[in-house]
Amino acid sequence: MDKTHLKKIAVLTSGGDAPGMNAAIRAVVRTCVYHGIVCIGVRRGYKGMVDGDFVEMHARSVNNIINKGGTMLHSARCKEFMTKEGRKQAFENLSKESVNALIVIGGDGSFKGALRFNAEFGISVMGIPGTIDNDIYGTTHTIGYDTALNTVVEAIDKIRDTAFSHDRLFFVEVMGRDAGYIALNAGVGAGAEEILVPEENLGLDRLLESLKRSRNSGKMSSIVVVAEGDKTGKSVFELKEYVEQNMPDYDVRVSVLGHIQRGGTPSCFDRVLASRMGVRAVESLLESRGGYMVGILDDSMELTPLEKAIKGHSSINEDLLRVSDIITV
Ligand code: ADP
Repeated sequence: MDKTHLKKIAVLTSGGDAPGMNAAIRAVVRTCVYHGIVCIGVRRGYKGMVDGDFVEMHARSVNNIINKGGTMLHSARCKEFMTKEGRKQAFENLSKESVNALIVIGGDGSFKGALRFNAEFGISVMGIPGTIDNDIYGTTHTIGYDTALNTVVEAIDKIRDTAFSHDRLFFVEVMGRDAGYIALNAGVGAGAEEILVPEENLGLDRLLESLKRSRNSGKMSSIVVVAEGDKTGKSVFELKEYVEQNMPDYDVRVSVLGHIQRGGTPSCFDRVLASRMGVRAVESLLESRGGYMVGILDDSMELTPLEKAIKGHSSINEDLLRVSDIITV
């Protein structure tokens, strides 16, 4: 798209919310203002596009949100957008407003929708990765991941106090159905005894062996971090039962951290990342580059085709798994 044709950009947040999404919205809006482009906020993700729920954004519309978790534009999952009719309705609504480019802040599901929308109606789209799971190819960090890690570490630190006082073993379930980034990094940061991730099947025998070994070496309390999608095939509650059956003298408890991992004040890292990504997304559209996701690689803002960001696989850090094994000896 010719720069002179880019007059109105719409921005939305979609899918699972993540701390730092507000900082990204703020950066997008202010970069639009800086370059003299009108910015339209879409409420509740694709649902707002289908319903025509738009609000014109100004520099002052995004005051005092850089420090807030969640998303001021709200987020949603939208079934209608999965249908051709729904997307057509969304396109007509955007056309009525003369919007000619769209910035989607969300995860890979949201990017799939954006790509389809672009293929069907030719509207330029840019993706900004906002998800606590960090499971997107083309960026070493997604917005919200760093904050979620800090939330998990803080929670486990508190669990550790009570685990130590009562000589207990805690299974702590953290988010991550398909990716073990939160579990692995927070697990290492919080000094977990074992970390169970979806990418690797540790096996129940090894878990038991490890727990017995540390018990015999004088460790009276332990934390095992379990990602939701871990491969043992057992829930945290079943893991607790399994260990109780095999180590009857160990007092075992479970803590499921759940939605607290999504909320809270974004870390400085996430605010800076979101600000950089927001600026880059708008400026890439100005350079006529659509169909990309902005990512951070080697501390530099890099564009990856959305198609690749969705299909690409970012693998677990094997070295970190090894580090975890060594330092929990
Ligand atoms: P996330 O972006 O966090 O991965 P979801 O997977 O729930 O979240 O996707 C968010 C929304 O994106 C969905 O509710 C739907 O409206 C849209 N979406 C996801 N996949 C597609 C698809 N294949 N085609 C069209 N829209 C999609």
